Amino acid sequence: MAKQQQAIQAIRGMHDILPEQSLYWQWLEGQSRQVLGAYGYQEIRLPIVEKTELFKRSIGEVTDIVEKEMYTFDDRNGDSLTLRPEGTAGCLRACLEHGLLHNQSHRLWYYGPMFRHERPQKGRYRQFYQLGVETYGMPGPDIDAEIIALTDRLWKQLGIRDKVELQINSLGTSEERLAYRGKLVEYFQQHLAVLDEDSLRRLETNPLRILDSKNPDMQTMLQQAPVLLEHLGEESLAHFNSLKATLDDLGIAYQLNTRLVRGLDYYGKTVFEWVTEHLGSQGTICAGGRYDGLIEQLGGKANHAIGFAMGMERILALLELLDNVPVAATTDVYMIRVGTSAEAAGMRLAERIRDAIPGLKLQVNCGGGSFKSQFKKADKSGAEYAIIIGDDEAQRGEVALKPLRIDAEQSTHNHDQLLQTLQDWHSQ
Ligand code: ATP
Ligand code: MG
Repeated sequence: MAKQQQAIQAIRGMHDILPEQSLYWQWLEGQSRQVLGAYGYQEIRLPIVEKTELFKRSIGEVTDIVEKEMYTFDDRNGDSLTLRPEGTAGCLRACLEHGLLHNQSHRLWYYGPMFRHERPQKGRYRQFYQLGVETYGMPGPDIDAEIIALTDRLWKQLGIRDKVELQINSLGTSEERLAYRGKLVEYFQQHLAVLDEDSLRRLETNPLRILDSKNPDMQTMLQQAPVLLEHLGEESLAHFNSLKATLDDLGIAYQLNTRLVRGLDYYGKTVFEWVTEHLGSQGTICAGGRYDGLIEQLGGKANHAIGFAMGMERILALLELLDNVPVAATTDVYMIRVGTSAEAAGMRLAERIRDAIPGLKLQVNCGGGSFKSQFKKADKSGAEYAIIIGDDEAQRGEVALKPLRIDAEQSTHNHDQLLQTLQDWHSQ
């Protein structure tokens, strides 16, 4: 006897999306597409693998992602490649490569899996899905406000607006950040005893990141730290004030979070996050900001860019908590076929129904079975109607139609009458 093989399991932190869950995903994706369309955004589809150099140069050598989270490997030619940990770098790479940034502006979105080798926990996975928006060629702050308004609209459409809060900050220009960095390091050096190991390391490499440490023992010290917003120049301040005025004008509430710095090196001026209290410590469902400087860093001419990415698993987790997703049934009508000629007639009729009523979801019983067992499957499918064909009906060119969700008798129809009845029901 063959020895039973041991089953192979998925990789830790990388999840299957089973059919029952994919209904929720499709709904979220559909709502998102609709909102993006309402603002005139276009989809861009990008490779999942890029040269490692792209991420090192854009995200920054001393960020969590590049230091410890990337899935990097040598391909057969010996080139170092990386599974994309985020979409911004690849999107900009593509637009530069295809000359899309010459005297043009673009509003783009992408969707797909991202990969980060993090410690898996609720809301934090090694393969996760982001829907991202990137815009190019617009200096802001009007476009900054637009992408925030777009997200605000999406939360409203999803029914989660009152569960999330908008936090905004400005990181100013790189010169302003550099000057501020000096002051910040000076301050931290007076409080070395309070800094944890992570922060001591960041003090050398990326001191601004210390500001968003969640370590409770450091909070009092952090509250007293110098504030970047108070060190911005006139132009950066005007940009930020104008953004706030537009948000006020649109009635979009926000919290000023002066310690919001974002984890990636490429941000400047506007940064924002949408956060929720309902998902524990993985509470950021959407995050973004302006990254004008990245364009030159990747070999383009000076230009403007702002975007965001939202974590789809976290949004779904929030939707699941609220239980307010209107999930459509996958089957409207289930066809029961018993007997050889009934099976052939049923298959032909099913194709005729699909020709006539394109949106109708019709499932044909395959694999045989008695009337009783097929009725059970029909019931389980969630269908509203069962079409029943036995050899007698097949012979007469008729079918029986039985409503499954209301207490009603089945009725007999010829094929034309059946089509008419289903069409009437479907167009209601
Ligand atoms: P966090 O602070 O939670 O680690 P981040 O700053 O690393 O987030 P971004 O790179 O800004 O996250 O990614 C944008 C969004 O993608 C996040 O706000 C979150 O919703 C989602 N996201 C990021 N990392 C993961 C992950 N490992 N698993 C699931 N979702 C994630
Ligand atoms: Mg992270």
